[in-house]
Amino acid sequence: MSTKAGTHQCDPGPLGRLALSRSTVDRATTRRNDAEWIAAAWANPRTRVLVVNDSRALVRSDGDELELVFLSPGEAPEGTRFLLGVDDDGIVYFGVSGELGDGNAMSLRQVGAVLNDHDAGLLTHAVALAYWHDTHTHCPRCGTATIPAPAGHLTTCPLDGTEHFPRLDPAVIMLVTDPDDRCLLARNALWPKGRMSVLAGFVEPGESVEQAVAREVFEEAAIIVGQIRYLGSQPWPMPRSLMLGFQAMAAGGQRITVDDDEIGEARWFTREEMRASIDSGELGIAPTSSIARRLIEYWYGAELPDGPAAWSAPVR
Ligand SMILES: [Zn+2]
Repeated sequence: MSTKAGTHQCDPGPLGRLALSRSTVDRATTRRNDAEWIAAAWANPRTRVLVVNDSRALVRSDGDELELVFLSPGEAPEGTRFLLGVDDDGIVYFGVSGELGDGNAMSLRQVGAVLNDHDAGLLTHAVALAYWHDTHTHCPRCGTATIPAPAGHLTTCPLDGTEHFPRLDPAVIMLVTDPDDRCLLARNALWPKGRMSVLAGFVEPGESVEQAVAREVFEEAAIIVGQIRYLGSQPWPMPRSLMLGFQAMAAGGQRITVDDDEIGEARWFTREEMRASIDSGELGIAPTSSIARRLIEYWYGAELPDGPAAWSAPVR
């Protein structure tokens, strides 16, 4: 087990290693304020640059595997630059939010579960920072255009000197089970029939994550839950969520009443019902890159197939 800071070699917990929670590249946080080191790294032709644009990057096939396309700093397009980290061989990685150029562009949503640990970690990190830079270009106090620091992990307002850091939206996502160990799945009102998942929602200001779990389940399905237990997390930077996975127990004898604005339908599944519904194409569950899928499989006790009603990855 590596103890290296900034990588994710720690015990992943009950859900195992999630697709977007993988990384092998040290974030090199102690280098971020060292402008001289940053400049030297950017001047080094061995440095690798990952260009991202609207959550997409260029990929290519290496045998059976997909891998990211990296450029040298001299080949990189114009755009906001940010330090991603340093690998075990001392290679420095930067991200740039800019034009992708020619090649096979794919989104993090499409390739997050397919890439190796090294590439999945870099792409997740780069997409998150690129979204932040693309959408937080001005000072929230006075409206002046902000200036990114050399490492790209903070911006400063040149007028009032305020510093601004990347923003995250914590969201809870929960496996709700009943005394018969059935699993609650719901269909968002905007989703096609057959597509269902576990409930989820954003944590509100001034609220604990456990309170958010209980509130969301009651709002969306009128089910009261207790015994709320944290299971694991993964970043979902589309655009800036951090998904916090929980299990919550519902007392028996409760009637599901869905919030019609947000939820189209909700119901309990036994393991046999879920497997049969997936196999028949009546039910499509979330893709393998999602923590939703892992929560459902944690309850089911094994991996589940996509089935004929698999969610197609949206091509952006
Ligand atoms: Zn300002």
